[in-house]
Amino acid sequence: MGIPVIAIHGGAGALSGLDEQQAKPYHDGLRYILQQAQQALQEGQSAMDAVCLAVSLLEDNPLFNAGHGAVFTHDGTHELDAAVMNGADLRAGAVAGICHIQHPVLAARAVMEDGRHVLLAGAGAEKFLREYGGLAWVEPDFFSTPMRREQLEKALQQERVALDHDVAVSQKGPQPPIDENRKMGTVGAVALDQYGHLAAATSTGGMTNKHAGRIGDSPLIGAGTYADDRAAAVSCTGHGEMFIRVAAAYDVCARMLYAKQTLEQATQQVIMKTLPPMNGRGGLIAVDAAGNVCMPMNSEGMYRGYARGATEPVTAIYAE
Ligand code: ASP
Repeated sequence: MGIPVIAIHGGAGALSGLDEQQAKPYHDGLRYILQQAQQALQEGQSAMDAVCLAVSLLEDNPLFNAGHGAVFTHDGTHELDAAVMNGADLRAGAVAGICHIQHPVLAARAVMEDGRHVLLAGAGAEKFLREYGGLAWVEPDFFSTPMRREQLEKALQQERVALDHDVAVSQKGPQPPIDENRKMGTVGAVALDQYGHLAAATSTGGMTNKHAGRIGDSPLIGAGTYADDRAAAVSCTGHGEMFIRVAAAYDVCARMLYAKQTLEQATQQVIMKTLPPMNGRGGLIAVDAAGNVCMPMNSEGMYRGYARGATEPVTAIYAE
């Protein structure tokens, strides 16, 4: 039996300087979620179980909320995206543009377990999920908060589509993301279980003021989410359009498989070399079958952490 590994992120972006006290709730939140997933892996649960557990806890956590507190579209609605992928057999499931499921990551898993399709969107996705059963349903305003509406109004004034974390920075100056209006949108997890299998999961509200119907990288297999036991499990965060255009998550795996790059080389290439020339801001978390973890970003910060075996989780916000 190998040593299991879990890594998680709570979004990347232009995070303003946090002092120790302001950063503490983020570190505490990340550590708690890592410990839960770590325990599940230690008890013999699969990498897929661990990433779904971690992402659903991130969706629940008010600081790393991809569920309640999700951003608004241009039309003032919520459209949530999520994906999961299983590295052992390349099974994958994803949902896009849904607004009635409390834990979108579990909706993505339902699509994968059903197995007939990989990506279901909008009303059709929710019809499928109703029939599938077993998921917690909410009204769309479950996801709304006054501060998110304020962010949308500001983004509308500026006529810009904004990454969750950048809106408050541009509007309010360098304020610490401690208060309600600085909740992060995208969350993700990657894991290696004791059986040597990899899995990845990502969940997001997308970008503030996005066009209704816009689908980001998170639910697109190969763009924001990918897992292949022969290479790595990857979950991305950042400006989704650019991650889609370079097939970021798959490119990490392809570089390892075809160019024989290490996880470190492949992730550095994608985040630090491929994305910056096209203004593709963001980062990713990745784990390979040997248990190596890489968490590169080209943004100021990325809420992130990992835990290996039973050892104390490591959490970080800024570049080390
Ligand atoms: N990648 C997400 C999207 O474009 C946003 C994020 O990572 O915060 O939908």
